[in-house]
Amino acid sequence: MVRNMKEHLGHKVFGVVSDIVEETGEQAFVIGGFVRDLLLEKKSKDIDIVVVGKGIELAERVHKAFRGSHLSVFKSFGTAMVKIRDLEVEFVGARRESYRRDSRKPIVEDGTLEDDQNRRDFTINALALSLRKETFGDLVDPFNGVEDLENGIIRTPLDPEITFSDDPLRMMRAIRFATRFGFKIEDKTLDGIVKTASRIEIISMERICDEMNKMMMSERPSMGFKLMDRVGLLGYILPELKAMKGVSKVGGRAHKDNFYHTMEVLDCVASYSDNLWLRWAALMHDIGKPRTKRFDPKIGWTFHNHNFIGEKMIPSIFKRLKLPLDNKMKYVQKLVGLHMRPIVLSEEEVTDSAVRRLLFEAGDDIEDLMTLCEADITSKNEEKVQRFLRNFKIVRRKLKEIEEKDHIRNFQPPVTGEMIMEMFDLQPSPTVGILKNALKDAILDGVIHNDFDEARCFIVSKAAELGLKPISKIEDGNGKW
Ligand code: ATP
Ligand code: MG
Repeated sequence: MVRNMKEHLGHKVFGVVSDIVEETGEQAFVIGGFVRDLLLEKKSKDIDIVVVGKGIELAERVHKAFRGSHLSVFKSFGTAMVKIRDLEVEFVGARRESYRRDSRKPIVEDGTLEDDQNRRDFTINALALSLRKETFGDLVDPFNGVEDLENGIIRTPLDPEITFSDDPLRMMRAIRFATRFGFKIEDKTLDGIVKTASRIEIISMERICDEMNKMMMSERPSMGFKLMDRVGLLGYILPELKAMKGVSKVGGRAHKDNFYHTMEVLDCVASYSDNLWLRWAALMHDIGKPRTKRFDPKIGWTFHNHNFIGEKMIPSIFKRLKLPLDNKMKYVQKLVGLHMRPIVLSEEEVTDSAVRRLLFEAGDDIEDLMTLCEADITSKNEEKVQRFLRNFKIVRRKLKEIEEKDHIRNFQPPVTGEMIMEMFDLQPSPTVGILKNALKDAILDGVIHNDFDEARCFIVSKAAELGLKPISKIEDGNGKW
């Protein structure tokens, strides 16, 4: 049975391509992700067109047909991209690829549509729709990709071991698509990944991490990490995460499995926020636990300072994964470092001073920190969870009250180090630091208000304790003395 999808090819670009190939006598097809997403009724961002003929020349003609479009030609890959407003249309000549064992670069030759479909990674990514007039919209599905789509199956068109060995990135792609669509990787395909896993080492970290970030942005990212673990890829990519697996027992006392706990926290955070870096913070929040694990006969298993150790581990992990080392990483570090604070806070009486300190340290990331911490409370003991969540409500209310009253979030003490040096005629020295810190503490502890006059008086009396007298008055920048 021929399935026809003509009514979905309404975009002008399909008609334009159709007219051109009618004239040149070539065959052209929409292929891959666009067709897959059409059948899944999901939005697709880019269009891939394969032409049995000259891909670049077709792209040039399409570019001329759309005023204001932009053409990029990648001669060495034999591909070209036409950008029509924010739609990217990629053109490639149908090709046949053959790989040799000793090289990652395939030998590429011109081929038929069938050759081109054979080189695609999964049956659901090999679907093509004809753009020739007489067959416009007809589906070409040599590997029963539609059936796999309907049954939610990821399967390679050809022998899985060869497919994965030819291009090991496909292993990550299999897991990424399974995670994104909630599909199952067919048994033989999964087995192919298990057998080929070690070849992931020839793939650049940028490309691996690209796939991992796409996994991260899916609805249930845990599925991807559990699959990576199951097929043996996790140890190559994130050994620190793998090290969190398992439970130790001493005298019948066990701790929870930190890997599976992390997976729960990650999915929970993902259900609240589509911030990629908050999701990374969830993945990393307990990464310091294996290194800090101890057994204390009195209190059982402990992971003292795992948050600080975790915070310290992040730069080397990010560097290895070729993730950004800028403020995105600092944000992840900060959340990991602070992730125990709201919990500790809610265990005790919630004092204004503790809330002020937390606000000061978390700054604008306080909301994200609270999201992470709420997600972190996964306990089998429902009563305990409820108690924590109740306390969290109090913490949140207090955070709001105190922020409204004291504006601590992006707080800078009203008297600066320069002012202190000027007041007491000091050179940069530890004394300046001592005075500055004392002022910060006094404000955060609520000894004085976050106010210029009170801060100046406080500094004067504190300096007197150190035997210092002010030699000049200071100005608050508004001409106030
Ligand atoms: P996305 O929605 O992420 O863009 P996609 O399926 O369109 O998904 P692309 O990376 O844009 O993925 O690739 C387009 C098509 O090219 C795929 O559908 C697939 O047919 C083919 N393809 C991409 N990468 C590979 C690969 N490593 N091996 C084999 N085929 C690939
Ligand atoms: Mg695509």
